[in-house]
Amino acid sequence: MMALEIHQFGYDQDNYGVLLHDSDSGATAMVDAGNAEAARAALASTGWQLTQIWITHHHGDHTAGLRDIAAETGAATYGPPGVHGVAHSLAEGESFVFTGRQVDVLATPGHTLDMLNFHLASEKLAFTGDTLFAMGCGRLFEGDAEMMWASLTKLMALEDDTIIYCSHEYTAANAAFALSVDPDNQALQRRAEAIAELRAGGHPTVPTIMALEKETNPFLRAGDAAIRSFLGMDSAPDSAVFAEIRRRKDSF
Ligand code: ZN
Ligand code: FE
Repeated sequence: MMALEIHQFGYDQDNYGVLLHDSDSGATAMVDAGNAEAARAALASTGWQLTQIWITHHHGDHTAGLRDIAAETGAATYGPPGVHGVAHSLAEGESFVFTGRQVDVLATPGHTLDMLNFHLASEKLAFTGDTLFAMGCGRLFEGDAEMMWASLTKLMALEDDTIIYCSHEYTAANAAFALSVDPDNQALQRRAEAIAELRAGGHPTVPTIMALEKETNPFLRAGDAAIRSFLGMDSAPDSAVFAEIRRRKDSF
């Protein structure tokens, strides 16, 4: 089986959409459908025919184009229950098939209660929506810190070389915040420089890799001794350390 081809495209302020394509079967999936015009342009530029849409959560920047694109392409729609236009509703632990590959569904509530992430173990590929960002995590609009920490812990169980596609280009701002709570982390310092260079050149910083996130993303490092001591929380539970990091980011 050939590796999937991947086409990432930007839309709105700082959103990323992704097309996945199998050149053997011609099948193409799109993760989220926040902007119909951008989706049409991505499909036109690749020449791929959309067969599936995978929705991560109900927010408009992920769903606004869903009904138009599904109607125009006839693509099968997968996602959380309660999202208009999702025909196949999914829940934690379920899976579905994309062109011979198993797509595992991980529920990762926190940013919203309905958040789903998609994992293709065969490709070491994960789509983390607004749960895990490069050096960041989603704001807690509907869930609480304990819930989000459990969701991030679930993602950290994926293999270290899993490629992570997330839904927003927030990385430069996330790097500045990360340095404020983890100032002596040399891997973080190096990455912040690399990110600045990428952004100066107009390049995306997504996708990322789980191992790099574990090293440099403060929201995955609530168990790290240096961060805990920096925050004066040496003996607090990890979820409380995470909550404090999230609280600081909200007002950074
Ligand atoms: Zn969102
Ligand atoms: Fe979003």
